[in-house]
Amino acid sequence: MKIKKKRFLFNMNWYKKAQNDDPPEWEFPEAEHDYNPSWDYEVDSIPDQKLVQIAEQTINEINTKIVPQIGMGVCKAAYIKEKSPDALARYIYGTQPNPVFVIDLENIKRIAEECSRDLYCDPETEIIIGIRTSLFHELGHAIQEWMNIDMNEDEAEQFAREYQDMGEIWRFWE
Ligand SMILES: [Zn+2]
Repeated sequence: MKIKKKRFLFNMNWYKKAQNDDPPEWEFPEAEHDYNPSWDYEVDSIPDQKLVQIAEQTINEINTKIVPQIGMGVCKAAYIKEKSPDALARYIYGTQPNPVFVIDLENIKRIAEECSRDLYCDPETEIIIGIRTSLFHELGHAIQEWMNIDMNEDEAEQFAREYQDMGEIWRFWE
């Protein structure tokens, strides 16, 4: 009986602590706009740091290797929880010239794990590919807005695949 009570108290404290963990402040000082993803989405306050690292490396790659060749400003990703279990990432329209992407890392992880089970491939690799291609795909949409051309899913997807597979920027807008 005594042990049970102790356990309960421990759990209560843990719960309280978790509740007090406010999501980190959204900071994007380079941006020309003040868009904050928390206006529209539930921010993931404790995202998996391993997944965050993959996403941050990808954004860094976008900002150093792709964006300078396009003339657009630097991009940033926010970690959010989508309502739909199938939603992976989005580009927030109107955030030019500094595109904001929102990404649901847990959804990508779950879908990548399902895929790797079906295809008998390495789940860790699928997660990395999933995060990278999701961000490259959304970058494709950001480029479509930046270049003032129509939104096109096939173009965004091919842009993502070519960069992921070959490291080549497919200049679909030219
Ligand atoms: Zn799309």
